[in-house]
Amino acid sequence: MSVNEARKIIESYDGPKIRVMEVCGTHTHEIFRLGIRNLLPENIELISGPGCPVCVTQTGFIDEAVMLALEKGCTICSFGDLLRVPGSEMSLAQARAKGADVRVVYMPLDAVKIAQEHPELQVVFLAVGFETTTPISCIAVEKAAELGLTNFSLLTANKTMPNAYMALKDSADAYLYPGHVHTITGTGICQKMKDDYGVSGVVAGFTASELLTALAVIVKKKQEGAPFFVNAYPRVVREEGNPKAVEMIEKMMEPCDSEWRGLGVIPGSGLRLREEYRDYDARRKYDLPEIRGHSNPACRCGDVLRGEIRPYECAVFGKVCTPEHPVGACMVSSEGACAAFYQYGGRNGK
Ligand code: SF4
Repeated sequence: MSVNEARKIIESYDGPKIRVMEVCGTHTHEIFRLGIRNLLPENIELISGPGCPVCVTQTGFIDEAVMLALEKGCTICSFGDLLRVPGSEMSLAQARAKGADVRVVYMPLDAVKIAQEHPELQVVFLAVGFETTTPISCIAVEKAAELGLTNFSLLTANKTMPNAYMALKDSADAYLYPGHVHTITGTGICQKMKDDYGVSGVVAGFTASELLTALAVIVKKKQEGAPFFVNAYPRVVREEGNPKAVEMIEKMMEPCDSEWRGLGVIPGSGLRLREEYRDYDARRKYDLPEIRGHSNPACRCGDVLRGEIRPYECAVFGKVCTPEHPVGACMVSSEGACAAFYQYGGRNGK
């Protein structure tokens, strides 16, 4: 389908309302950035979903990292976005201001290098993210093991998408599935959502042409009436995914229950290191207590991540909560829905 054809299908749609969930935060940002929202008629509504790894990371995870940094004296290595996510008492950036050793790295292997070069430090990498980023954390553990390092571990909050899809299956009329996740997992789960639960969706890429095509496919298929699944990103996503990456994840990690901000605990939706790798599991290594975090009561990230409200419907959006002074995770992350609405939609977010 050409871009012009896709655009025509979208712009001329005048049927019943279609609610489309952008599962992935990158889709939310790209759709805003490319001006695609401006093309949509009133009766195509885009709602945000839980596919921003920083946004769905539970407050208690930040509390655990702060405890490791301040009480256990660990060196915390993390992707930059996580530093400003509020914990129950403080963020990692605030812990750093109190003297904690908190460092931004671009890859988990950077943290391994720090551990190798500084045997006097106890380095903990904060492993968050979905199927896309989990393999690189596994590679880091493999490397640390190969080097015989005893001063490197992961604090894991890795999550997997299939059970989140199940938890959200009644939230929209169709789903824009994240292309990068399905590059790893393949498309079996999307097909299953359609076959077993009648959930419609399209795997989408990230360019203007790919996003417009995916939306046009949704509009066209929706009018045909039956549930559908289409891989609209076939140049990258294969039905079988990336078996090597899946094999690596399965070799080193096992499913566990996981808390998602806004969705609660979803059984089997997390990943933790297997028993054989327990020496690299910071929770076990430092005997962390179970921490139930609590977010700022004014923050409605949970409702945003379930697609129940738009960011600007949160009372503090753009007033108390801004990218400079975020109250919740969705305003911190570069993939967060609140940050996207603020950046591209102005203070009113519309
Ligand atoms: S605007 Fe801020 S406080 Fe409100 S939901 Fe978004 S991140 Fe949370």
